[in-house]
Amino acid sequence: MAELLKGKPVTDSINERSFQKVNELKAQGITPCVALVRVGENSSDISYEKGIIKRCSEMGIEVHHLLFPDTVTVEEFYKGLDELNNDNNIHAILLFRPIPEHLDNEKARNYIAFNKDVDGCCDKSLTSVFTNSKEGFIPCTAQAVMEILDYYNIPVSGKKVTVLGRSLVVGKPVSMLLLNRNATVTICHSKTDNIEKTASEADILICATGKLEQVNKDYVNPQQTVIDVGINWSEEKKKICGDCLFEEVEPSVHYITPVPGGVGTVTNAVLINHIVEAAASTTTHN
Ligand code: NAP
Repeated sequence: MAELLKGKPVTDSINERSFQKVNELKAQGITPCVALVRVGENSSDISYEKGIIKRCSEMGIEVHHLLFPDTVTVEEFYKGLDELNNDNNIHAILLFRPIPEHLDNEKARNYIAFNKDVDGCCDKSLTSVFTNSKEGFIPCTAQAVMEILDYYNIPVSGKKVTVLGRSLVVGKPVSMLLLNRNATVTICHSKTDNIEKTASEADILICATGKLEQVNKDYVNPQQTVIDVGINWSEEKKKICGDCLFEEVEPSVHYITPVPGGVGTVTNAVLINHIVEAAASTTTHN
């Protein structure tokens, strides 16, 4: 049986760091403030938003809302973002994406001010990940994977890591973070031949395909650490499941993250920490 790499202790430790920083900021008269920007009434955006509001309130972070109907004009939408970018009392901006096509997802991704881009989604933030420059914010999920490996003292340097998935949100940034830490990284995707062999030869397997329970025992080995990033709804099981077929993979590996209760919870804590750090950075810039 594998040892479970649960997200909760990692989250607790990140939250402790965040909480301490919030208290330091409040002592200086600064209350971290995040603007949540939502277009339309998408139910998954609303439920994600509720979770963020709850965590912000627990942490003493102020939340500012900018809500637009689906029919918002391009001018109104970007004027709203301009105001947030230029408002010194707003330290962080989180845009729920994707947004309606007429607003241009690519433009919006790069429109949020770099120092407020707590999601780490703009090109400049991604460049920092590729150049290992430490400026700006790392995409939250990619950082969450590293936080889990570090918290549980899983060595990365010199290890073979296979990443399943090459999205800008998870696969590519996490691959670069691992490379920056001297792992030997192989990136697989939907066109990779003989993927089971490449996956099973790795010391660490990062699963970020969004394909429900596709990773089975043929992808793993008994010494392996498996980090399952996937969040997929299983109609059959009527619950959230990962990219791994847990009941088959878990007995065949050394360490594995559960879904839910793994990467997802840590990602949320990383986001909150980024908001706090964005507020803290204004004290050094002023
Ligand atoms: P995405 O944009 O759909 O990218 C999926 C990637 O997986 C693509 O690069 C795709 O390859 C690759 N892929 C698809 N089928 C594959 C296969 N059979 N074998 C190997 N690679 C395959 O998804 P994403 O945004 O990266 O998210 C991935 C998963 O992580 C989703 O389940 C998502 O819900 C979850 N997620 C979790 C968190 C969290 O906090 N835990 C945060 C974000 C996302 P191609 O490029 O060739 O199409």
